[in-house]
Amino acid sequence: METKILLDENEMPRKWYNILADLPTPLDPPLNPATGEPIKPEDLSAIFPMELIKQEVSDKREIPIPEEVLEIYRVWRPTPLYRAYRLEKALKTPARIYYKWEGVSPPGSHKPNTAVAQAYYNMKEGIERLSTETGAGQWGSSLAFAASLFGLKCTVYMVKASYEQKPYRRILMETWGAECFPSPTDRTEAGRRIREKFPDTTGSLGIAISEAVEDAAKHDDTNYSLGSVLNHVLLHQTIIGLEAKKQFEIAETYPDMVFGCVGGGSNFSGASFPFVGDKLRGEKPEVEIISCEPMACPTLTKGLYTYDFGDTAQLTPLLKMYTLGHDFVPPPIHAGGLRYHGDAPILCKLTKEGYMSARAYYQNEVFEAAHIFARSEGFIVAPESAHAVKAVIDEAIRCKKTGEEKVLFFNNSGHGHFDLMGYDLYHEGKLVDYEYPAELIKKSLESLRIK
Ligand SMILES: *Cc1c(COP(=O)(O)O)cnc(C)c1O
Repeated sequence: METKILLDENEMPRKWYNILADLPTPLDPPLNPATGEPIKPEDLSAIFPMELIKQEVSDKREIPIPEEVLEIYRVWRPTPLYRAYRLEKALKTPARIYYKWEGVSPPGSHKPNTAVAQAYYNMKEGIERLSTETGAGQWGSSLAFAASLFGLKCTVYMVKASYEQKPYRRILMETWGAECFPSPTDRTEAGRRIREKFPDTTGSLGIAISEAVEDAAKHDDTNYSLGSVLNHVLLHQTIIGLEAKKQFEIAETYPDMVFGCVGGGSNFSGASFPFVGDKLRGEKPEVEIISCEPMACPTLTKGLYTYDFGDTAQLTPLLKMYTLGHDFVPPPIHAGGLRYHGDAPILCKLTKEGYMSARAYYQNEVFEAAHIFARSEGFIVAPESAHAVKAVIDEAIRCKKTGEEKVLFFNNSGHGHFDLMGYDLYHEGKLVDYEYPAELIKKSLESLRIK
């Protein structure tokens, strides 16, 4: 009756799992918006290292994890698989609840699983500096951490509103040696243009992406780094699900349902794809895979499955995905990492084809779930992760009614120590349950339908 199922360091998986090898039909390729043709590897080489471009399109089922990356993973990996006995007891459920705890990494989430790999491949190809954008700072701090371990410089364009309101993650970035600027800056043309037009702007993720991409494109020694959505990011995150599968073997069980929260889709994909692979290959046809998103940004439950830009500024290739439209700006919920208009193309395809399904939740019910979790299991989870907690609690309560002893597994993507303001507002009853903004979404989608 162990609470934590642990792996030794030498039991850590040595290969990532590439689900592209098991998809029933190929993924629709990203398109060059200028020509409408699939993009070529050369198109990406100005801002990404060749090895990551290769991983993006690889059809090999397994991709070896470099020794240098494994060495850094060992700082916090393998992460524990917890059996949530105390939560089960609090809910009086016959269901058995397990969660993978990614909050033990130095930056406090799953994001360094890919940040470390990306920094490594860039270092190997002679790059000296990485540029990126960050909203609330989870990705920026993860990349700053990874860059520092490989001796790379790191420039982070942080949305100005967050830079001013949420100083703690900026301080993390600076502690790891990164430079962090409130975006829009006057360091890039994109930034200068916006500042001229809107001197009082508090920035947006779209603008910050434009700045980071321009910085990388204009400097030979600099590459751009993205924290979610792309195939290679999902690939690196499969270390979560691969470890979990070994841990379930030790526990002599297998999940009936797998849950995770979805912003761009990286932690959910990383945790679930090794299980989805079993399903796709017909080995575990019954396992249910469920993604959890905010009602305020209901990409998978209310979006359109079509080609759209990855960013507001329309700089990226067109990606086939569920989208709320690239100019949709979601309401300011506290799960900042889940405010993205699109989702990872692989995850969208699997959802479209019925291999996984999505559920959406309001802020207050999500924070309520986080409190039930904190007061039983002890950990204070990130507001993002709390979406998965909510889904699991609902399912466990359903199991109580039916008497089912289902095995429920979720990825607990990070801790909430820098998100306590959201917790505080919940205590004061001041959190807003944003209705999903149907009119805004409709307006945003209309432009897509015309194309
Ligand atoms: C960034 C973040 C997310 C959302 O990103 P995904 O790519 O969808 O995983 C979820 N949880 C935490 C803790 C995060 O920091």
